[in-house]
Amino acid sequence: METRICNSCRNNFPIEDFDIEFYKKIPSPPPKTCPRCRFRSRLAFRNERFYYKRACNLCKKNMISVHDPAHTPNVYCNACWWSDRWDPLQYGRDFNFSKPFFPQYQALLRDVPKLAMQNDNSTGSENCEYTYDFAYGKNTYLVIGSWHAQDCMYGFQINFVKDCIDNYILNDSQLMYQSILCEHSYSCQECMYCHECSDCTFGFDLKDCQDCILSAGLRHKRYHIFNKPYSKEDFIQKKKELALDLWSSRERLRKEFEIFSLRTIPIARLLAYIAGSRKISGTPKIAILLMIFLAR
Ligand SMILES: [Zn+2]
Ligand SMILES: [Zn+2]
Repeated sequence: METRICNSCRNNFPIEDFDIEFYKKIPSPPPKTCPRCRFRSRLAFRNERFYYKRACNLCKKNMISVHDPAHTPNVYCNACWWSDRWDPLQYGRDFNFSKPFFPQYQALLRDVPKLAMQNDNSTGSENCEYTYDFAYGKNTYLVIGSWHAQDCMYGFQINFVKDCIDNYILNDSQLMYQSILCEHSYSCQECMYCHECSDCTFGFDLKDCQDCILSAGLRHKRYHIFNKPYSKEDFIQKKKELALDLWSSRERLRKEFEIFSLRTIPIARLLAYIAGSRKISGTPKIAILLMIFLAR
């Protein structure tokens, strides 16, 4: 193992032997900044979550924008930016071959008006002002990288969804809460990688399941808790005892479930999960999912 000083934060950071081997294979020089600083750089590639109050530089009306007034002087509200009231060609200028390219490009970027928020609010979407990289929605707040979302809050990459709060990557689902990578599901909470499920809470890798709680890796099942089957009556009674409506119970159960699901589903199977594909081995998405799961 090698220890280096980060060029950015000046803290020590380790480079493991297998990483050094990997860099040789690519080939690529070892990193000069620590993992935390590299992560920060990746997150900073664009601002999509921090919004500023400012005035439109064309119509002067107040608006919100992802562009900081202290650093980006010329920003138009969405109505102005899409209108014919300004001509981008008026910012055209000759390129000076005796000077470097990037400072000239930076000056052009600084001067040309920016779009305040990248969304279609008031054209394709209604009441979705506080969204970014968003289209075709209604009554949606703080949702990013999504479209066709109605009555939703706090989401990232949630598409064709309704009545969903606090989710990360959902497709074609309704009434979902705090779930990750779920599809074609209804009324599920704290579920991860669940497809065609309904009324499940704390689920991991469930397919076509209904009324399952704290369960992982099940297929076509109903009335299960910790992967054990119950009669409908016993399930209802047991569900009451779990007190899922209390935050304190949820916090405790979340921890128990993390341990249970990691023990229940072999990691090797997760890393090689393949669905509806041919001549494919492994899915990068599932590896990312596992990392998120372990980091929670
Ligand atoms: Zn650093
Ligand atoms: Zn304007």
